[in-house]
Amino acid sequence: MVREQLQLLWKLQTLERHIEEAQKEKETYPLMLERLEGMLKTLEEKKEEEKRRIEELERERIKLEGELEMESERTKRSQLKLLEIKTNKEYQALLKEIEMGKEHTSQQEEEIIRMLDEIDRLKTDHASTVERAHKERKEIEEGQAKIREQMVIVEQHITQWHHNREEIVGKLDPELVKRYTTLKERRNGIAVVLVRNEGCQGCYVNIPPQLYNEVQKNKEIIVCPNCHRILYWEETSAS
Ligand SMILES: [Zn+2]
Repeated sequence: MVREQLQLLWKLQTLERHIEEAQKEKETYPLMLERLEGMLKTLEEKKEEEKRRIEELERERIKLEGELEMESERTKRSQLKLLEIKTNKEYQALLKEIEMGKEHTSQQEEEIIRMLDEIDRLKTDHASTVERAHKERKEIEEGQAKIREQMVIVEQHITQWHHNREEIVGKLDPELVKRYTTLKERRNGIAVVLVRNEGCQGCYVNIPPQLYNEVQKNKEIIVCPNCHRILYWEETSAS
């Protein structure tokens, strides 16, 4: 009778520890999901930022091309005007203006070429970012799906274990359960301990030979003289 009660008590404690561990694990899932969500957001932001930069440069380039065209028109008009000029002084002045205009135009052309190179480079980078993001998104989403699946499984385990726990408690002497619960609270979550190698596995203090013999019989509730936990001799354990 006591033997059966002790076995049940040992089972109860094992089960409760499983439940506690599963609860702890369950609490980590929302954080893991949040972290993955953050990774997805960072990826999207990087993509958007690159796209914005390309569009900005494109706008600058178009503006500069407009300016370049106007400058060329101005130079053409000045060249036509050159034919109508009478005095040498005016001629020289306009010629200088035309030269300066041409110089400015060629600077603008170089600037546009630099911009086109930069845009090309950014577009290449962006294409690889998009490709990488696509791959990473897939991995992240798979990870999220796995976590959600695991959440369901853990939840099912917890429900099942609670059910098993109720069954065991139903078979136990209520007084013993009360004693066990109090002991568990006071002894860091462990109320029943195995006895092995003539020692208590809760506090690792040796058990007097007489008591050790009694414990092995599993015929009465015996507590450790040192930590006061309930001692349990697992009959299958070789020791
Ligand atoms: Zn002990």
